[in-house]
Amino acid sequence: MRHDLMRVVALIVAAGRGTRAGQGLPKQYRPVGGVSLLRRGLDVFSSHPRIDHVLTIIHEDDSDLYENAIEGCAGLLPVAFGGTTRQASVLAGLEALRDIRPTHVLIHDGARPFVSPALIDRVLNALQDHAAALPSLPVSDTLRRSEGNIAGETVDRTGLVRAQTPQGFNFDAIIEAHRAADSDLFTDDIAVAAAAGIKAVLVAGAEENFKVTEPQDFDRAEQFLAVRTETRTGSGFDVHRFCDGDKVTLCGIAIPHTHALLGHSDADVALHAVTDALLGAIGEGDIGVHFPPSDPQWKGAPSRLFLEHAVTLLKSKQGQLNNIDLTIICEAPKITPHREQLRGSLADILGVVIDRVSVKATTTEGLGFTGRGEGIAAQAIATVSFPTTERS
Ligand code: MG
Repeated sequence: MRHDLMRVVALIVAAGRGTRAGQGLPKQYRPVGGVSLLRRGLDVFSSHPRIDHVLTIIHEDDSDLYENAIEGCAGLLPVAFGGTTRQASVLAGLEALRDIRPTHVLIHDGARPFVSPALIDRVLNALQDHAAALPSLPVSDTLRRSEGNIAGETVDRTGLVRAQTPQGFNFDAIIEAHRAADSDLFTDDIAVAAAAGIKAVLVAGAEENFKVTEPQDFDRAEQFLAVRTETRTGSGFDVHRFCDGDKVTLCGIAIPHTHALLGHSDADVALHAVTDALLGAIGEGDIGVHFPPSDPQWKGAPSRLFLEHAVTLLKSKQGQLNNIDLTIICEAPKITPHREQLRGSLADILGVVIDRVSVKATTTEGLGFTGRGEGIAAQAIATVSFPTTERS
């Protein structure tokens, strides 16, 4: 079957109640690296060019958790609610696809967050010639039975593989197999298919595509992300001159002064420097590119809009803010009495805890334009974390 004749739905199974990994939350909603297991998988499937739709099967008690988890994730079908077993949940998901009638489905565990686009491609390629495909890995450890706490006989590992997901199927074949299943104890969909006489071809799985189940699996997931994460830095600098007025706005806070700052927006020189630092860290130009001074809609605009936009861009690239260090340069007004308030406001706009935000102030010892009291300058450095991408 040619690519363009395939109509593929990814079915993400996330109805489990598994809370043994801790935090009292079903594990698929627990974050690693600040993003839930479920969302990580959903992002991979929903952005894959050969996947037409993504359907998530959730527990009916988890609607709020789910809505929270998918915020900003495009291209998802309305959820299906799962049943009391994994198998019942998958069948509910398959039945929900009757109107869409895909040619193929990929059935994936919501607790395998590190599925790669390349692995999805291997499964889809295999489905062009086979009714079912199973990503699998060899067994490298010696297998042995345990008799209590005594090591028992060695199990011959010849011909054994470890089964992963996404497991790929011809849609009509797998929905019939699920409807016909005479047991609800199958542990995966390949087993359901096999009971109906469907043969699955093996394709290469991936070690990184492990299932997060036990508390230590979360540690492994965090470590996996840590080595795949890189830090980027951006700097920002801005100056606004004084004009007539009685207050200046810094970090969104109005501070009484003998002058105001002149600018097209609210002239919040501090937020402009921070916004440029953040845009610099993510390679997204500068504030003027996103909010041209020539555009009348930004006249008098609160500058927090600019910074909030930069934060949204950061998140859309799956980046996270590590810290901001802002320095405000002026003789007056005195910044120190307001510093904690500015810091709190900046942290609030950025949506991070306050210890990731630093606000400092300095004078230029009476030298230069700031020394002469002609205006205020601000400079900022932002560091952000991203999933590592190719360098060349
Ligand atoms: Mg400016």
